[in-house]
Amino acid sequence: MKYLSTRGHADRKRFCDILLEGLAPDGGLYMPEHYPQVDDATLTRWRSVYHEQGYAELAFAILSLYIDDIPADDLRALCRKTYTAEVFGTGEIVPLRHLDDGLWLEALSNGPTLAFKDMAMQLLGNLFEYELARRGAELNILGATSGDTGSAAEYAMRGKQGIRVFMTSPHGRMSPFQQAQMFSLQDANIHNIAIEGVFDDCQDIVKAVSNDLEFKRRYKIGTVNSINWARLLAQVVYYFAGYIQATEHNTQKVSFTVPSGNFGNVCAGHVARMMGLPIDRLVVATNENDVLDEFFRTGVYRVRGSSDTHETSSPSMDISKASNFERFVFDLLDRDTDRVRALFGEAVPREGRFDLSADPRFALAATRYGFASGRSTHADRLATIRDNHARHGVVIDTHTADGVKVARELRGPLDVPMIVLETALPIKFAATIVEALGQPPERPAKFAGIEDLPKRVQVMPADVQQVKDYIARHCA
Ligand SMILES: *Cc1c(COP(=O)(O)O)cnc(C)c1O
Repeated sequence: MKYLSTRGHADRKRFCDILLEGLAPDGGLYMPEHYPQVDDATLTRWRSVYHEQGYAELAFAILSLYIDDIPADDLRALCRKTYTAEVFGTGEIVPLRHLDDGLWLEALSNGPTLAFKDMAMQLLGNLFEYELARRGAELNILGATSGDTGSAAEYAMRGKQGIRVFMTSPHGRMSPFQQAQMFSLQDANIHNIAIEGVFDDCQDIVKAVSNDLEFKRRYKIGTVNSINWARLLAQVVYYFAGYIQATEHNTQKVSFTVPSGNFGNVCAGHVARMMGLPIDRLVVATNENDVLDEFFRTGVYRVRGSSDTHETSSPSMDISKASNFERFVFDLLDRDTDRVRALFGEAVPREGRFDLSADPRFALAATRYGFASGRSTHADRLATIRDNHARHGVVIDTHTADGVKVARELRGPLDVPMIVLETALPIKFAATIVEALGQPPERPAKFAGIEDLPKRVQVMPADVQQVKDYIARHCA
């Protein structure tokens, strides 16, 4: 399998070459040359693989269709090392829970940081360590986080050979639980840098450092952001696992609702559907930052300015643009790289928007590709959390609540199970749960008292040079 850029001006590469890269050199995103097709017999075999041998073995079966430059035995060992009951809390790894008539929750948030990003990041940590060792190379990961990404990256990379993490976050702006999760890590290869500023300042610093090509090369700077193809690929697996749990025969269809921000999670659902998994609809749920809902309703993709980007109670979906969206547009436009380059490389930087409403292919987003969308607000979130608690005794997190709200609106025929992806556990966003229910959410035992642990964090002004100096000092 080779990978090509959505903008068409980069060499085709194999998996391990794009693993350690971010964007393609032409500014595009890497996509597989084709989607391996899963026929009825294969899907039947995967059912028994999941039920009898487990999630790790299913992950190996799917990943090996896309990765041909890691020997099969090694890839299998990496999957087995990643997806264990010890790390993810249950033998199913992603168990389904029934809410009501045909509505299900797929639990993706029982990994080390209690958000779905662990599903991919834990694998990425093991893949990075493997590939860096094979090359005798090192990598210094520089990132910006407002919460979930940074902690998932740190828990995936802690103690790994050849890897250091430098994670910037806005000083004092993450939830106390999120701060405690990150700052209590004592591993020597993990560096928390709290920037006196907002999340955008952190992102600007990361960009400025990455744009200094000399510094980047000298200090082997890399990233783990959501455009990394390996992360997306790891996420494809749980669409299959969810489907297998919700159905008994391959003739049945299911739909998924996905709480969305950067379009990484639901893009993995799109890939699963393109491989032939019988998915009826892929429902994109957004919060007040409704860039994606606007596109699927109107055909207009409009990037928001920072004054137009809302701070909400589902903060991991607070985006001004959707970094993985270009991948879907690439397929929607029949992989016309010139057109994708004109839209994302020219129209968006120049005008902050493009409009596909007049393009006959826009209608295919719903008809051929199964997409639908909806939006949820703070009031919806509170009402949905209350309603689920009252009816099912289940406390869901704020992001998952956005999904459940939209899923109920767009649920379709009752004989098609609707699976909502649970993207975080409520303890991460306790303040909103208290607002909704008047009581704090349950806290998993292993997180008892983490706010009181010693913290390892360096506070710094929003100054690129100081961050560079810090990195240089700690890369000796
Ligand atoms: C990252 C995140 C999302 C958004 O996922 P995308 O892949 O960016 O669409 C939703 N919910 C939670 C809890 C997250 O951490």
